[in-house]
Amino acid sequence: MKPPICCICNKRIKNFENAGLVSFKKRSSDIEWEEKMEREGKVGHPPYADWFCKKHYEKANKLSYLPIHKALKQFDE
Ligand SMILES: [Zn+2]
Repeated sequence: MKPPICCICNKRIKNFENAGLVSFKKRSSDIEWEEKMEREGKVGHPPYADWFCKKHYEKANKLSYLPIHKALKQFDE
């Protein structure tokens, strides 16, 4: 698992009340990744999930029906 740093603004997350890991819609490559990890007995940071700070968490949650690469495009700063 990656350290808890917001993938949008690179802020380290200290308070997890309104911030945290958001899992997005899995693409076929994400399902392949999961199957591979399970087969090899490994753990890692899921390619379809990332950390979001308080400022970006709510929006990320609302976009979680999208695959992650599409959701991240919705964040324009
Ligand atoms: Zn952020």
